[in-house]
Parts: sequence; structure tokens; C-alpha cells
Amino acid sequence: MMNTISILGSTGSIGRQTLDVAEQLGLQVAALTANSNVERMEEQCRKFRPRLAVMTEEAAAKELAVRLQDTSVKVLAGTDALVDAAVIPEAETVVTAVVGMVGLKATLAAIREKKRIALANKETLVCAGELVMSEADRCGAEIVPVDSEHSAIFQCLQGCADRREIRRLILTCSGGPFRGMGRDEVGRMTRADALRHPNWTMGPKITVDCSTLMNKGLEVIEAMRLYRLPLAQVSVMVHPQSIVHSMVEFKDGAVLAQLGTPDMRLPIRYAMTYPERGENPAPPLDLLNSPSLTFLEPDRETFPCLRLAEEAAEAGGTACAILNGANEEAVRLFLAEKIGFYDISDLVAAARATVPVTQTPSLEEILSADHAAREAVKSAFARRHS
Ligand code: NDP
Ligand code: MG
Repeated sequence: MMNTISILGSTGSIGRQTLDVAEQLGLQVAALTANSNVERMEEQCRKFRPRLAVMTEEAAAKELAVRLQDTSVKVLAGTDALVDAAVIPEAETVVTAVVGMVGLKATLAAIREKKRIALANKETLVCAGELVMSEADRCGAEIVPVDSEHSAIFQCLQGCADRREIRRLILTCSGGPFRGMGRDEVGRMTRADALRHPNWTMGPKITVDCSTLMNKGLEVIEAMRLYRLPLAQVSVMVHPQSIVHSMVEFKDGAVLAQLGTPDMRLPIRYAMTYPERGENPAPPLDLLNSPSLTFLEPDRETFPCLRLAEEAAEAGGTACAILNGANEEAVRLFLAEKIGFYDISDLVAAARATVPVTQTPSLEEILSADHAAREAVKSAFARRHS
């Protein structure tokens, strides 16, 4: 088992749960990073005593440095310092738990140092999956997914040496808080409605993505990259109980699934202990007292983001980076209560229609596609409000 970790995004939902798991497993913590939450970062530093703490916001870093004067924790500022946290020599595993494609450069840097990547930050794989995976192959770095669906698939694939044995992956999806509603009702849903997710407590960006089904769309792309499969072999089923975390159907017709309570600490723990399994103190899944398990086709008409993501996956090249960049900006506007629910998919569709796609892109081309998509969303929004 690995015993020293670095966490990018330690103050977030995944970051905090990773620290719970680290405590349970007795892991050392070499570096922690956050954006602006000084209060929580100070608390985490006092408890886990990392050598390095990074705040990407300069003012927050200054304040943290003052607060931690009586400790030996070194404080760095700025987005570039995420790379320092990612390559810190003591850490064998880097947990990528920042939100958004801001985690990409640090992830690549950690891969080049041959760290194990416990990957939660799905936006990096969506934007630059081919690059990240080929760099991991070249450097011999392991990527172990933390996203519950991909961890489920990863677990089901243990012992499968030949990917040609896979007929298809089946990603399960809770359906989000608006499952079963019609378009008119969904169109009236606000920020507060979207932030009430039935089965999981997560950061605001991914919670909105769950309500639009963009999260599932991003996960389809994430699965295609992680397991190097075409879109035709990655399907989605709505499973409102969130007990089956995903499945693999093999060519002989066997279907393997991983079941569990909806608790991210299980996939996080597995990413730390893999190929072994660590002791979990939480109560086990109680199937005798669980609701019946049901499965449904997703509603791509009411939730067009899933279709938009599948179309971007089919288009390849920078299309997924454009999709993701546009979605990050649109969700930001929705969280600021500046746009309505269907404006998210409209703005993403507009960015995809206007930003040209480049095939087999370099890192620079991916970053510039991301930038162009964000600009397209900002200017479509500005046009509408002028
Ligand atoms: P949160 O919003 O809860 O946490 C985000 C973390 O990233 C915080 O530490 C935050 O710092 C930091 N951060 C935010 N913006 C920036 C920035 N611009 N630069 C650097 N750091 C930043 O997100 P989640 O934990 O929910 O999600 C993290 C990632 O994991 C996402 O990619 C998400 O899709 C993925 N994921 C999450 C799941 C979940 O259950 N939450 C499940 C599966 C995947 P600060 O606190 O200072 O703002
Ligand atoms: Mg998931």
C-alpha cells in the first residue's frame, strides 16, 4: 500500500473525504492545495502537518502564511504552485480533486514523476484524455479512478487482461433531482433546486452537472479515455437508487457490477489501497433493507447535455475540450443566478457550433480550444443581455 499522498483540492468534497480515508488508513500527507478557503486549510494543516500548502488565490496564501507562522508548513501561492504540490518527492500518490480543467498541468506533471494518480478531476480527462493516458503509458504512471462509476468499472475489470473481451461498459446514473419531470417544469428549476441532489453530497459544480446530466456525459467521455473504448461501447442507464455503481458486459454475455452504499470514501479508499483492499469502518450495504433496484433509459430530450456530450465524443479532437470549457462557464453563470436551466445546454450548443474542432490536438491547441469555448459562452451571454 502507498503511504504518502498529496491532495490537489483538499478543502472540497472529495478532498475532505480523502483526508478522512487518509486518517483511517494512517497515511502521511505531503501537500495540500485549495483556492481560497483559508479557514479550512489552516485546520487541515494543523491536523495533518503537510510539508507544503498551496492557495491558488494570492491573498488567501498570504493570510494562510501568517496563520501558520508557528508551524513548519511551507505556503505557496498561485495556480502554478499546484505543480509543486503534484511533484513533491515524498508523495507516491497524488489525488486530483480540484474542480475544472485547471488541474490538467499538475496532473501531467505528477504523471511525469511516475506518481500514482487517484483521479477525481474528470474535466482533465475529458479535455485532454488521450494526452494524459499516453503520457501515463509512456512514463509508467498508474491512473486509478476515484469517480464512483469508473472505480466500479475498474474493479469489475480486475483480471481482464484483454480489452477485446469487453462488449460494453454500462454507466449508471441517478437521473439527478429532476428525473421524471417534463421540459416545462425542468425549465423553471433554479440554482437552489439543482443543488438538492437526492443521493450524494458534492461540490456545487458537479451537483449542477448531475441535474443537467452533463455529469454523465462527461463520465461517458472519461470512460472512453480510461478504457480506450469507442462511444458505441459505453452506454448509460438511469438507476435511481445509486446502489449499482456501474457494470461491465463481457463478450460471453456475463455482466459484472460493483454495488455499495453511495459513499465516495469507498472508491477513494480503493484508489489508495489498490490492488489491495483496506478495512472500511462504515456499515456494510444492507440489501435486505434496500429499495428494489430499477434501470431506465436516460431522457435525452429533457436533458440535452447528455446528447451534446455524446456528440462531442463522436466528433473527437478538441470537441470535448470545447464542450467542457463551455459547460464550466455556463455552470458558473447558472450558479451566479444569471441564466436559467436550459441556457446551460443552449450556451454549450452555441459554443460547439461556433468554435472549430482540431483533430489530434497538442496541449496548446487543447488549452486554446478551452479558452475559445469560454469566450464564446461569455459573448453569447453578453449579446443576450445587451
Ligand atoms: P468542490 O467544489 O467541493 O471542491 C473543489 C476543490 O478545488 C476545493 O478544494 C477548491 O478550493 C479547489 N478549487 C476550486 N477552484 C479552484 C481553482 N480555480 N484553482 C485551484 N483550486 C480550485 O468539488 P468536488 O470535491 O465536488 O469535486 C472535485 C472534482 O472531483 C471535480 O472534478 C468533480 O467532477 C470530481 N468528482 C466529485 C465527486 C463528488 O462526490 N464530489 C464525485 C466524482 C467526481 P476552495 O475550497 O478554496 O474553493
Ligand atoms: Mg460519478
